Amino acid sequence: MLRAPARTAPVRGTMAAHDLVIRGGTVVDGTGAPARTADVAITDGMVTDVGAVDGQGRKEIDADGALVTPGFVDIHTHYDGQATWDEQLTPSCWHGVTTVVMGNCGVGFAPVAADRHEWLIGLMEGVEDIPGAALSAGIKWGWETFPEFLDALDRRRHVMDLGTQVPHGAVRGYVMGERGARNEPATAEDIQAMAAIVKTGIEAGALGFSTSRTLAHRAIDGEPVPGTFAAEDELFGIGRVLGELGTGVFELAPAGALGEDLAAPEREMDWMRRLAAAIQRPVTFALSQNNADPGSWKRLLDLSAVAAAEGLPVRPQVHGRTVSLLLGFQTFHPLAFTKAWGEAGLGLLPWQEQVARIQADPALAARIVADAAALKDDPIVTGFMHPSRIYVLGDPPVYEPGIERSATAIAAARGVDEWELLLELFLGDGGRELLNAPVLNYTDGNLDAVGEMLQHPTSAFGLGDGGAHAGQTCDASTTTFLLSHWARDRDHGRLTVEEAVHKMTQATATLYGLGDRGVLAPGYIGDANIIDHERLQLRRPELVADLPGNASRLIQRADGYIATIKGGQATFVEGSDTGARPGALLLGFLMVRRPPRQPPPSGRPSTTATGPASARSSDPSRSTTTCPRGRRAPAWDPTASRPDCGSASRGSSATSTTREWWPRAPTAWSSPSTPRCGPGRRARPWRSPSCPCSTSRTA
Ligand SMILES: [Zn+2]
Repeated sequence: MLRAPARTAPVRGTMAAHDLVIRGGTVVDGTGAPARTADVAITDGMVTDVGAVDGQGRKEIDADGALVTPGFVDIHTHYDGQATWDEQLTPSCWHGVTTVVMGNCGVGFAPVAADRHEWLIGLMEGVEDIPGAALSAGIKWGWETFPEFLDALDRRRHVMDLGTQVPHGAVRGYVMGERGARNEPATAEDIQAMAAIVKTGIEAGALGFSTSRTLAHRAIDGEPVPGTFAAEDELFGIGRVLGELGTGVFELAPAGALGEDLAAPEREMDWMRRLAAAIQRPVTFALSQNNADPGSWKRLLDLSAVAAAEGLPVRPQVHGRTVSLLLGFQTFHPLAFTKAWGEAGLGLLPWQEQVARIQADPALAARIVADAAALKDDPIVTGFMHPSRIYVLGDPPVYEPGIERSATAIAAARGVDEWELLLELFLGDGGRELLNAPVLNYTDGNLDAVGEMLQHPTSAFGLGDGGAHAGQTCDASTTTFLLSHWARDRDHGRLTVEEAVHKMTQATATLYGLGDRGVLAPGYIGDANIIDHERLQLRRPELVADLPGNASRLIQRADGYIATIKGGQATFVEGSDTGARPGALLLGFLMVRRPPRQPPPSGRPSTTATGPASARSSDPSRSTTTCPRGRRAPAWDPTASRPDCGSASRGSSATSTTREWWPRAPTAWSSPSTPRCGPGRRARPWRSPSCPCSTSRTA
């Protein structure tokens, strides 16, 4: 599946039996199975042994007392532009992520006509708040078609693997020009042309197709994303490509996602179910709690469970914490909406000068506070930035604050005006203070709803939006939050470490058909994190001007990641880049797993009772790997230089003989502690959160 397999040169000393051995860690293998103490051996980029590993590694890492997990697979990012200039993919690389999927929510940069570069930049800037100046200065254009975009990505090296999706917005603009950009209905010819482009993109390696239907997603000129109002013939006409190819995920930000249309969610669910039934491919949609209809998430989870029971893969994609605005002088804040602010011309000044002016002029500060009372009539302020909804974030940051951390509560306790208190808080740390204003997932003043969403068997963990919302928030760090808050600090409704790790490794990998990763067992890709769980801690977000063209963005780092390993190479050690660039572009169409170079010698004690090695010896049907088009590949033949789908490659015209809608995870049922539910078996639907295939299949 890797276009350029992440091989490490086999340098063998006299004693070295493995490239890398991670010794004596607490292995949480990604399947949801109980943690156990074990060594992990990696050679030629693959895990070769988990257990009591004999023989020395060319490199050894002492992981005594540390968690050892698979590398995290983040399926919801927006690095489409950044990937062309940034080898590290910050900030995701600081949070244990070794695989990202980008091209979400219908926005991206291919296909593109030569004269439409700036239009696509405006689309990305409007929807995802990535500074257009940075994209203009940073993107190294050099493609028109989607396959050419993949080629451009493939020429660059990264610290992690990248997967792409074909974005509806770009495709619509490319095929329909201004008609597409202005959301006019697509003709039958338009739909045919769009489907052909998506087909070419998927055949070239994209992992799916994405679209956006929420009115909250708008281009910088205010126009809703192309495709927002796409009719069913367009959605189904394009979606059918995935069904015909038997691969790929259909991802969307649905109508009503932010509570902007209360009748939309059920309507969206209706066509999503019918689409999933028609194409037998996963349909994954963004799901959050919104304040306008705080119970809709629950209804949608229930409907997803009903769909799952019917064998339909409709998968809500959920976040791990609030979707928030980080308010402050460096970003934006409600006091800038006051009359006094405007009259003083503060909006024209850099934030540091705003701070200096207000600190030097108490009368100005008093006028701003006095005028703020009038903001109660401003729907944007009352809806998103009222002091009662603004919480002290602090350092270390608190992402599930009690009501006592709200500006209103603190003001009441101190007996001061809430707006005065807010101004004082914003002026903290020389004006650098950032306050947390949750927009989604916090109607109840806690994360209980998020907990239910995260633990729902149909849900997929995502929505971190890595690389996006540069001036609003930084949620690419939510992987760290899952392990530190949900699996350690929270005082109730915690996830186990095993659940949290599974949710962001095997579960996400499986949804996107990446059956070669997300598990620490022989035969899987050698991606791992070594984590000091006690010490694991998010730092507070900070604004830095490190984007191309000196544009700013919010970033967030963490402490406690001892090392992140990609294909057996350490890419980050204690948060520092090692310079290794083992990442590669993922080819979704060639969904096969590379075999372990050195299968563990028989008879060696191993804590992995039934890994791929034993699966292939005990189950002849597993001795080959089926690619999405039903070809059988000699996946375990160590002499094959590239064990992909036989001759399947770009443009292959083989037809599918298998139609497995559920992303296959060849060894998902390998752990003795997870329910066994191989193909053809009917598993108990949605019983165990640790079983990625826990739905009924039609045998
Ligand atoms: Zn998104």
